[in-house]
Amino acid sequence: MITREQIRELAEFEDPGASALTFYFQHTAPRNKAHKEETILTKELARDVLRRLESNGKNESARADLDRMVRRSQEWLGNGARAKGVFACSARGFWREYDLPARLPSTQFFVDRHFHLKPLAQILGAFPSLGVVLVDRHRARLFDLRLGELIEREGFFHPLIRRGRSDGFAGYDGGHAERRVADEARQHFKVVADFLMAALEKGIFEKWILGCQETHWSQFETQLHPYVRERLLGRFPAEVAHVSRDDIRSRAERIFEDWQQRRCGEAVHETLSHARSHTRGVTGLRRVLRALEMGEVQTLLIGENYVAQAVECSGCGHLDAHIVSTCPVCGRDTREVVDVAEALLPRVIHRDIELFYVKDDPEFDKVGNIGALLRFRSEQNGNVRSIDSIPANQPLGRQQGLVGRYRGAASR
Ligand SMILES: [Zn+2]
Repeated sequence: MITREQIRELAEFEDPGASALTFYFQHTAPRNKAHKEETILTKELARDVLRRLESNGKNESARADLDRMVRRSQEWLGNGARAKGVFACSARGFWREYDLPARLPSTQFFVDRHFHLKPLAQILGAFPSLGVVLVDRHRARLFDLRLGELIEREGFFHPLIRRGRSDGFAGYDGGHAERRVADEARQHFKVVADFLMAALEKGIFEKWILGCQETHWSQFETQLHPYVRERLLGRFPAEVAHVSRDDIRSRAERIFEDWQQRRCGEAVHETLSHARSHTRGVTGLRRVLRALEMGEVQTLLIGENYVAQAVECSGCGHLDAHIVSTCPVCGRDTREVVDVAEALLPRVIHRDIELFYVKDDPEFDKVGNIGALLRFRSEQNGNVRSIDSIPANQPLGRQQGLVGRYRGAASR
């Protein structure tokens, strides 16, 4: 599966010749059925892209990439692969191939100066790194859950050294033995809780899900630091030694999906109410673009079917909702961007901005289907310092540099 660093690499890539090819492959037909139709469809889609390239007088390197993509898709059909993403630009010696969760909208090709990242962002946008912890009175296991893949971190917890019989005194044991067992369990829960605290602090994962027996939860909970408790998304009943991997994964994914839906709903609500009171929320493309350039955005919300045009400066990368021919920041020429939501993604990915695609929300629709929750607001009461006030000769900050690498979706 794809890592954050790999996604960053894709977000940064740019081909001035506009032959960066993106191929999303989603196998939809039932096993061994209709392979032929899928192959035909893939070939047709590839031919369309090639025709478009030819009409623009550029096809040499892209043709080789397209052929290779079609060949690869035939191999995937043969070995039952469900979903893949290929990002290629042979003119610049670039080819990356990743397994993706089988939740892509369809098989699609894109060609542009940049790779097309919306399907990736939809899958990854609000996907924190997740730890799944199984615990009982004397064992603990830790898994990473990422994009439908569950990987156990072996040896993350040190097994508690069980004391032998020799340290009890047969005959005098009675209540001591019970107390000792309870004591050992408490110590063990504390060790696990401390490990979780350290793991969250080191960023090994951002959120976690717990599998344990109900009877152990109350004891374990008392050992959790509030910081760790806050990051717990939910728990499910599990027997550490016997629960199957599939069971862990499906239960954890359900908990995560419920959380994600709640989180998106909360973010929309929060953004709208903050925007109304001119505090930590903005709505509408113009204000969202400005907040992004000011580095204020914590969570970005985009309507699932949102499409809007903008222009992008060929010099500094400034994105503007007004279709103007010269950049208001540096005065150089702008070019049109057909899908501003796609043009935003490299910056969103670079800066780890939480991203949700909002589905059918009438309230959100009313405010223009784009909004952002801010970490801070440069100045209160909506009196935000305009990007226009930055002198043209002032070196642009890191954020503008990042934007600058994105050269628009409508460059053809
Ligand atoms: Zn500019």
